[in-house]
Amino acid sequence: MDADCEHLVRQLHAFLDGECDEGWEVALRAHLADCPPCLRRADFERRLRMIVATRCRQAAPQVLHERLVRMLPSWPQG
Ligand SMILES: [Zn+2]
Repeated sequence: MDADCEHLVRQLHAFLDGECDEGWEVALRAHLADCPPCLRRADFERRLRMIVATRCRQAAPQVLHERLVRMLPSWPQG
């Protein structure tokens, strides 16, 4: 892995979270087009996030419901 790749991998998570500016995204896409190891890594991270997001979405309503039920008695009235 060269210095370019290391830099990109460090930014990859921010990119996948949508926290990257547009200029950087262009640079990332250009690098991925040209660097199969980084492309595989980006693809893997993206799939991982999709799996996590799907499971969290399914689990959230039940967890949220339980939390709200526990909070109810302590809510201020009026
Ligand atoms: Zn690379």
